[in-house]
Amino acid sequence: MALPALLVRHLPPAALVLSVAACGAGRGSPRVLSSATIEANPVARVEWIGGWDSAMATAIAAMERELGIPRFEVSLHLFPGREAFEAALVRSGYRSDFARDTARTMTAIGGSRTVLVNEGNLVAAPWERRLGLLAHELAHSLQYELGGGHRGTSDQWLREGFAEWISVRVLQGLDASSLDQSRHHALGRLRGRKRAALPPFEQMVTFPQWVALGQGPHGGVVYDLAFAAVDFLIRRHGLTRAVRYFELFARSPDRAANFRAAFGEDLADFERAFRAEVWPTRRSAGPAQGTFAWRKSTRSWMATGLWNTVTPERCSSTSSGECG
Ligand SMILES: [Zn+2]
Repeated sequence: MALPALLVRHLPPAALVLSVAACGAGRGSPRVLSSATIEANPVARVEWIGGWDSAMATAIAAMERELGIPRFEVSLHLFPGREAFEAALVRSGYRSDFARDTARTMTAIGGSRTVLVNEGNLVAAPWERRLGLLAHELAHSLQYELGGGHRGTSDQWLREGFAEWISVRVLQGLDASSLDQSRHHALGRLRGRKRAALPPFEQMVTFPQWVALGQGPHGGVVYDLAFAAVDFLIRRHGLTRAVRYFELFARSPDRAANFRAAFGEDLADFERAFRAEVWPTRRSAGPAQGTFAWRKSTRSWMATGLWNTVTPERCSSTSSGECG
């Protein structure tokens, strides 16, 4: 895909190779990998990933190759366990009680030019899953980059759905998942619930709302809802406009106006169209219903049930603005 011009404007070129930048000197200190200095090469198959350095190189290369996203400077901090992860959150400005809750329930956080990971929670996770997680968090870092280094006031459902969409595209580039397959699973789970029972977008705007939903009866499908909505949004308007949406927050906090400026329609109109797509009535049912082909031969960690739960592997945005 051609490089989105708007994206190029905000992302400075970075080194094309990666290397280990630094190692923690003490017990509980993180290993730190910098995109500017890591020497590992990207791989073409997810089963060839042998460490976080090659996972990072592979994710960044896939984002560039599959989506035209230029490389931007970002560091990956790998903590050996919850205690060190929590301490890092406190050092970065979290309140101690919030840091404790976050470290207890989350494994990774993507912020401005930084991704924090509690590696201790991923000891048994296959690299396919770790790569998907890393790509999700890198997408959150990208959102900060686009927004001028700040979290901004962009809608949480759009932030999460965009990060999930990027993650799927990265895995798809390595033949480890596909948008068709992920769409099929997400829509299947959404259609298993009553339309009126799921929350409207206006209840998924802020991070506290997102957390509350994740801990409630809809916790199992909030990522499905966000992914399906952004997938529909990108099919409807294109990736460049989604990128533009996040860029607009560098200049204005007006989320409704930014949505309208980026996508050329009001959020309410889009939501109506999206819900008609997910839960078509007899009158509105059309070809879209039958377009969700599932390539059964494609492997996917989404099929294992990891996709639709608010697990510790998911990003945690924070009140201190460290995460998307
Ligand atoms: Zn996230």
